[in-house]
Amino acid sequence: MYLSLRMNVIPPDIQYCSLRGIMVYIQTMEKRIMTIVAEDSDEIGAMQIERLELGPFSTNAYIVTCQKTQNSVLVDAPAEADIIIDKLKNTTPKYIFLTHNHMDHIGALAQLRNELNVPLAAHAADAGNLMPPPEILLSDGDTVLVGNLKLTVLHTPGHTPGSLCFRVGRYLISGDTIFPGGPGKTGSPADFNQIVKSITSKIFILPDDTQIYPGHDDSTVLKKEKDEFAVFASRFYDSHLCGDVLWLST
Ligand SMILES: [Zn+2]
Ligand SMILES: [Zn+2]
Repeated sequence: MYLSLRMNVIPPDIQYCSLRGIMVYIQTMEKRIMTIVAEDSDEIGAMQIERLELGPFSTNAYIVTCQKTQNSVLVDAPAEADIIIDKLKNTTPKYIFLTHNHMDHIGALAQLRNELNVPLAAHAADAGNLMPPPEILLSDGDTVLVGNLKLTVLHTPGHTPGSLCFRVGRYLISGDTIFPGGPGKTGSPADFNQIVKSITSKIFILPDDTQIYPGHDDSTVLKKEKDEFAVFASRFYDSHLCGDVLWLST
């Protein structure tokens, strides 16, 4: 029954998203998770990262807030705009950042753009059908200030051509590029090779204690992912590999 339910609710576009996110949906469809996942006050200044798990595909939106200025940025706009707006109401939203242009991450985007009236920022390669176009196009290495916080942009193609991750201090919001146990879903072996290159060349060079917050599912620690990838990379694997891959069991 769960399988048929799943097949019925998955639009074609979602096939490119992690199935693990959909499994989480099945487990948690009765509840809505909103948790503060990180609070820090080290060299980057006081900040808070809040996770909102929203919509039929259990997609995570994150709100990163500079606690000194209360300026905030919303990362992704999955669904249920009213809940997101309510969570933002004690902050001053400055931007909406998009990790990538898949429907489970943009379901509430039109309403949020209308009501928040802040610029949308995305990578050009994922901006094609966004209407109106994003006010800001982000590139690898860009930095954006949100209050006292500095967010750094990583371009990590593979899941989509314009996939982005956002780093603030030792925290990484990773969209559907990397999850606990594996990369995001890829549609071809070339895309798989590309996402592996993105992960190894841009994410695994960050400090081992970097906390990773994906677009679905719970957070993970970079060192654990690096260790699991090392096991995967040490084995022979089919050159046609793509789709949903787990480092330890694929
Ligand atoms: Zn996706
Ligand atoms: Zn997704």
